[in-house]
Amino acid sequence: TALIELKQITKRYDQPKQANVSILEDINLQIKEGELVSILGPSGSGKSTLLRIIAGLVPPSQGSVLYNGQEITGTNPGVGMVFQSFALFPWLTVLENVKLGLENKPLREADKMRKALAVIDMVGLDGFEGAYPKELSGGMRQRVGIGRALVMEPDILLMDEPFSALDVLTAENLKRDLLELWTERQIPTKCIIMVTHSIEEAVYMSDRAIVLSRDPARVISDIPIALPHWRD
Ligand code: ADP
Ligand code: ADP
Repeated sequence: TALIELKQITKRYDQPKQANVSILEDINLQIKEGELVSILGPSGSGKSTLLRIIAGLVPPSQGSVLYNGQEITGTNPGVGMVFQSFALFPWLTVLENVKLGLENKPLREADKMRKALAVIDMVGLDGFEGAYPKELSGGMRQRVGIGRALVMEPDILLMDEPFSALDVLTAENLKRDLLELWTERQIPTKCIIMVTHSIEEAVYMSDRAIVLSRDPARVISDIPIALPHWRD
C-alpha cells in the first residue's frame, strides 16, 4: 500500500489576468515506503507547488493527500523540507539554525540541544556549531539546511532542487553522504521526494522519476529506475 497518495490534485492560483488557469491538473500518484522519487518538469510547471501541497503548506484547489490511507490534505504530515537557496537565517549560528527545526516540538531545551548536536555531527558539520552561514561554503550551508530538516526526524523528506546551487563536486559529496544516511537507516525517513531539473541527477539518485508537463502540469511519465547505483 502507498505511504503517500495524491488523488486528483488540481491547483489554481488566483491570478488577476488569467483567472482559473490550472497549474496542476488531476495529479494522481502513489509513493511507497522506501522510495526515493524525483519530480522533473519544465520550470514553472508546478513542481514546487506540488511539494508544498504534500507538505501541507499550500492547499490544493481540489483533490486530496492521503498519508497511510488517512486524509491529511492541508496539514503537516511530519515532513522536513530542504530548499534550493538553503533558507538559513544569517544572524543565527549553525546550531541555532538546526535547532529551529525543533521549534514547535514539545521538547526540553537540553533535548533539543542534544538532538541538534547529533544531527550536526551526522551531516558532517562537527566543529562548526558556532559558525554563521556566511562563514560556510555552499555545500556546508546546504548541510545545515538538510540538518534542520533531519532534526525533526521526518517521515517524509521533501527537497526542492537541493543541489542545483552547488558546484558538481560539492553536490556529489552531499548526495553520497545523504544516500549513505538513508541506506544505513541512520535517519528514520520513510521516503524522499526530490524536485530536480537534472535527468542525470534523477537517474543517479532515485528509484522513480515522475515527469510533469506544463500549462497545465499533468503526470506525463512515471518511470521506474531499475537500480539506482547506490541500491545493492
Ligand atoms: P516549478 O517549481 O515547476 O518551477 P512552481 O510550482 O514554482 O513551478 O510554479 C508553477 C506556476 O505557478 C508558475 O507559473 C508560478 O508563477 C505560479 N505560482 C507559484 N506560486 C504562486 C503563488 N503563490 N501565486 C500565484 N502564482 C503562483
Ligand atoms: P564544500 O566543499 O562546499 O564544503 P562538501 O559537502 O564537499 O562541501 O564538504 C565536505 C566536507 O568537508 C564537509 O563535511 C565539511 O565538514 C568539510 N569542509 C568543507 N569545507 C570546509 C572548510 N572550509 N573547513 C573545514 N572543513 C570543511
